[in-house]
Amino acid sequence: MKESKDRMRVLPGDRVAVSEEFLPGARTYEDSGVIRALAAGVIAKDMKSMEISIEPVAHPELIKVDDWVTGQVEGSQANSANVHIYFLNGKPTYKDFSGMLSLRGLTGGGRGARRTTPVKTGDVVRCRVFSLVNGIIHLSIDEPDMGVVAALCGNCGRPLLKGSATRVKCDECGNVEERKLGRDFGSAPIEP
Ligand SMILES: [Zn+2]
Repeated sequence: MKESKDRMRVLPGDRVAVSEEFLPGARTYEDSGVIRALAAGVIAKDMKSMEISIEPVAHPELIKVDDWVTGQVEGSQANSANVHIYFLNGKPTYKDFSGMLSLRGLTGGGRGARRTTPVKTGDVVRCRVFSLVNGIIHLSIDEPDMGVVAALCGNCGRPLLKGSATRVKCDECGNVEERKLGRDFGSAPIEP
């Protein structure tokens, strides 16, 4: 029975107690009178047995098809962009996820058509997970709610403002850029 629990997060090696106070429990070890964490997690104290242990953080976060994620564009190629994922279904994720955003169909028509730029490096973008084939998190921004939610001016680095459905503008320097915008682009704070 756990009667007391503070939800302090610890990392492996962190000091969690001294051995005069507690006995080392699950996922801890004793090191010259100091009890340290063996695993990342939260501290759990059992006040009956006076054991201190570490509970692994929640459940492993697993991304599923149809989840939505929010992250930052780290680089883009002609038909895809890499997205570093920071939020899963609106909640911060502590795992290091990267996804591949498909830009096919968003970069403009065929031969002779003007190419557009749906996302740029540094943009904050909200994406739908549409496939997990080959262990890759495949993302799309086709839906109205998905797309860039915040971006900085390529000229002067100021936050860009919404101009039209597909354009953003910089009040500072007059720069106009194109993006595939999420419906709520430019709202502050950003809704992940
Ligand atoms: Zn600017």
